[in-house]
Amino acid sequence: MTPFESVNTFFDRGAQLIHLKDEMYDVLKTSYREVQVQVPVRMDNGSLHVYTGYRIQHNGARGPYKGGIRYHPQADLDEVRALASLMTWKTALVDIPFGGAKGGITVDISNMSPHEIEVMTRRFTNAIGHVLGPARDIPAPDLNTNAQVMAWVMDAYSASHGYTPQSVTGKPLELGGAPGREAATGRGVVYVLEGAAKHWDVDLQACRVAIQGFGNVGSWVARGLDELGVKVVAVSDVKGGVYCANGLDVSRLVRLGDSRRSVIETDGVDHISNEELLECDCDVLIPAALGDVITADNAEKIRADIVIEAANHPTTTEADAMLRDTGKRVIPDLLANAGGVTGSYFEWTQNIQQFKWKEERFNEELRDIMMRALDSTLFFAESRDVPMRDAAFAIGIERVARASKLRGYV
Ligand code: GLU
Repeated sequence: MTPFESVNTFFDRGAQLIHLKDEMYDVLKTSYREVQVQVPVRMDNGSLHVYTGYRIQHNGARGPYKGGIRYHPQADLDEVRALASLMTWKTALVDIPFGGAKGGITVDISNMSPHEIEVMTRRFTNAIGHVLGPARDIPAPDLNTNAQVMAWVMDAYSASHGYTPQSVTGKPLELGGAPGREAATGRGVVYVLEGAAKHWDVDLQACRVAIQGFGNVGSWVARGLDELGVKVVAVSDVKGGVYCANGLDVSRLVRLGDSRRSVIETDGVDHISNEELLECDCDVLIPAALGDVITADNAEKIRADIVIEAANHPTTTEADAMLRDTGKRVIPDLLANAGGVTGSYFEWTQNIQQFKWKEERFNEELRDIMMRALDSTLFFAESRDVPMRDAAFAIGIERVARASKLRGYV
């Protein structure tokens, strides 16, 4: 099953719960607009590489299209389409005034120079610029993109539209980025985990947590848990993972990450692979890196009781069913990682108002929105006796369907 088919399988389950009209399925299961562009880049050594880029706008009934841009060898049309659809349900679930989109370039940037990445980013932005804009489609960081990349996107867009910080989120603070945005996805994961643990009467302080991925999401999750005194027993990055039953020294790992070194450079710990991390002895598992990592091959070997999806689409449909059958509690991506786009919403509103919030306000508002979405998901799931994923999709779909109908899309 491709990622898009998989997301639509989850969609169908949610849609059935709210008795979505047949004709709505056709509108909500397909993208509104799919742009594929050629991105030629003159490399530093003089050679020319032609990459392929995408911007998929899935649904804009509730507001401008919104979603990240990723640079990854697996970022093809189908994956970006799947992720754009997830953004539609995510922004609706947390009830912020955006639709769903995603962009990507099929590229391995690990051996590219900053200059090559800049040239590629500017080319890509110019190629998709006609479908972007603060009231049309607002990109943000995703896998292998960051505040610097967003600064280039903003600069390229602003070259033809005038200074437009509200055209992109996840920017550097100097260019209208919001204090709190960088940490927002990770903080949101921690808020949701705290809230869910309380609801289930699980003592989070006694839990051992494993985090796959130590990039912008994973490292902030680790920091947040560490601040709460929760033991992080395993983390990993592209190079591999580390495990320590007594808990890892998170600040040391963060220092390594900040100096662009791998977590595997820590000593006094057991070294494990990324696959082993998923199956390690822990109570809470947090995939915070790539999609499709929990599959039919390893789902039965997962020992954690709670899986909280900080990554987008980390669980295949087969694995999702297996986790359900073995009684695991799965907090779905739509809810778990929605802190990122919620933080983007705060950044966008601040840019429009030209008014800066303090980080305390940002975090407080973020917690409110995440808690409201958690409560409604838990309420739906428990009152209908369905998994949280189905509940999250159902809530999102209902809101988008209503807006689509009101706007006359059907
Ligand atoms: N890339 C993030 C996500 O998948 C954030 C998107 C955004 O802020 O627009 O949710």
